[in-house]
Amino acid sequence: MAVLPIIKYPDRRLKSKSRPIKSIDKDIERLLDDMAETMYEAPGVGLAAPQVGVNVRAIVVDISVREESTAGLIKLLNPAIIFSEGQQVGEEGCLSLPGFSSLVKRKDLIKVEGLNEKGEEMEIECSGLLSRVLQHEIDHLNGILFIDRLSRLKRELLKKRIDRVFAMESYAAF
Ligand code: ZN
Repeated sequence: MAVLPIIKYPDRRLKSKSRPIKSIDKDIERLLDDMAETMYEAPGVGLAAPQVGVNVRAIVVDISVREESTAGLIKLLNPAIIFSEGQQVGEEGCLSLPGFSSLVKRKDLIKVEGLNEKGEEMEIECSGLLSRVLQHEIDHLNGILFIDRLSRLKRELLKKRIDRVFAMESYAAF
């Protein structure tokens, strides 16, 4: 297992739609293991493959560092939300946008289906933080960042701050 570099906004790979995984081989198994290690090292509660520069539909989630949960480590391929109900609002950040967070409106109760690392079908029904994290990671597979979920005004304000900080960072790197 290895900790992979996490790519940061505004890398265009974060804006791309990721492709479905057709078969599970050693490369996919290794990718999922490396993604889990990278998430724990960060530390974060979720990570999507495009965040390590691989545009395939794979996510890992473990919310137990933030709140007590029996869900443990979830590795999910080709996840799809098949049902959703209600709304929740909560603070959200992203490992690809370090240092920034905002309140984001999400669905509350969701039902997600996908494949585990053995290729077996699985279904997760959840609400609260786990639901929020799953929606955030599935968004990554469609090239959507949490800032894209904000109202236009909030998004523009946050983007200005983000662009200023990232411009400063690249300046400092020269
Ligand atoms: Zn993220």
